[in-house]
Amino acid sequence: MNLVETVGEAAAAHPERPAIVYEDRELSYEAFWTRAGQFAQALVDRGLGAGTRVAVYLPNLPQFATAFHGTLRMGGVIVPMNPQYKRRELEHLLGDSGAEVVVTLPDLVQHVEPVRDDTNVEHVVSIGDDAGDVSFEGFLADDTHPVVDRDDDDVACQPYTSGTTGTPKGVLLTHENLHWDADAALDPVPGGVQPEDRHLGVLPLFHIYGMTVTMNATLFAGAAYYPVPEWNAKEVMELIEDEELTLIHAVPAMYNDMVNEPGDYDFSSVRFANSGGSALPMEVLRAFEDRFDVDLHEGYGLTETSPVTHANRVGERRAGSIGRALDGLQARVVTDDFEDVPPVEEGPVDESEVDLSEITGELVVAGPNVMKGYFERPQANEEAFTVEDGTRWFHTGDMAYHDEDGFYYLVDRKKHMIVTGGYNVYPREVEELLFEHPDVKDAAVVGIPDDRRGETVKAFVVPAPDATASPEDIKQYCLERLAAYKHPREVEFVDELPRTTTGKVQKFELND
Ligand code: AMP
Repeated sequence: MNLVETVGEAAAAHPERPAIVYEDRELSYEAFWTRAGQFAQALVDRGLGAGTRVAVYLPNLPQFATAFHGTLRMGGVIVPMNPQYKRRELEHLLGDSGAEVVVTLPDLVQHVEPVRDDTNVEHVVSIGDDAGDVSFEGFLADDTHPVVDRDDDDVACQPYTSGTTGTPKGVLLTHENLHWDADAALDPVPGGVQPEDRHLGVLPLFHIYGMTVTMNATLFAGAAYYPVPEWNAKEVMELIEDEELTLIHAVPAMYNDMVNEPGDYDFSSVRFANSGGSALPMEVLRAFEDRFDVDLHEGYGLTETSPVTHANRVGERRAGSIGRALDGLQARVVTDDFEDVPPVEEGPVDESEVDLSEITGELVVAGPNVMKGYFERPQANEEAFTVEDGTRWFHTGDMAYHDEDGFYYLVDRKKHMIVTGGYNVYPREVEELLFEHPDVKDAAVVGIPDDRRGETVKAFVVPAPDATASPEDIKQYCLERLAAYKHPREVEFVDELPRTTTGKVQKFELND
């Protein structure tokens, strides 16, 4: 289950094929594999050994993949960092992980330098020039280092996630975790990923979704990976058409942008499109399918599960569902007392007729992709797992229900639930309804303090360009269609919603 060994096998089988295509330049598997070996040797030449933390602080660029697989090749551990992070965030991540090397862009070196003295950072490698200690090309050794042996449960990557508490925690993902998930996540595609596939690389590589599902799954198969450093709907749609990409993975906010982007685009080359990372509104799914004539499949996962746990297979997709658990993974929906919540007959249920609270529980999972644990956080590890009859169940923190056919339906994050006058409201249900309104381009719902009810529902709405509805009209629209306690008592129009690069609305910012 050595992750990089599998990439090496793909490189040996397809030396001439393109591994990475970026701005009209192709890096063949042979060239990519050599560069990864030179990166590994460069680390070893500097006296670094297995277990060394290498922070990759980059947008999606070919060098991300080289540094990633080069580090794994000499037994190191990747600490991926969002290139939007500034000094404060770096201080925490670099300090906590003990990273000794940072690979970054010249413009980002300014954020690394001030924290160097307080961390273990010894080497700053910058792409293009030597704004750091050395340029990327200058860093590479002449020789290539072979792949070192690793055990399946040796850590390969340590991404950071906030999870359910505030401070980001390091997630220890092993070779087995990442290998298993990169294999399983693309099972829903007929025949899996093929060497002829061309895979859109717009999901950020510092996030586990992009790392496993786009980069690693592609490089396992000898297929071509197209990194895109920055999201721009028009440019990405042109890339899909011009390069005849076959596989698309993106987050709902990106699909929403594509749907709203004018122009004619031919997506007939696409054989699989998938959405994950946050809830895919039904309206976005329908609009995308109508416009591009491509089925949109939803999947689900978390950083702690490397990430994918659930997916819709081609040919048996169920709109509104995150799909079934991947083969080899166990999933349950449980109450707070860890009792199983029985499945409904067939989903998705009509939420106006069913009390969601009665069929919903927390989704827990067990399987080969579940993290080893959080790095040096005994308390968080204690809370994250329940061990029952020898099985280690991971608490996802997400509320879901399931049906007798094995399909799962995400309701919302446990902590986003709003309790108003004793009733539970899942923001997602209200958000889905808002998306159906023609004047609504984007929407998010949060709970706000209320003297009488404890909390009430508030909606933030980004109006569509030609919208005529007022906030009061939107309020009335919801009141007519939902139980009264669920309708937003406040509606506020905003220009845009604060979203993370993986499409999640930052609800704490809306709360503030
Ligand atoms: P992360 O650790 O950043 O990958 O975030 C994981 C969280 O993203 C999950 O716990 C869910 O709350 C959310 N998420 C991922 N996929 C979906 C989906 N298909 N629908 C709704 N939420 C999702």
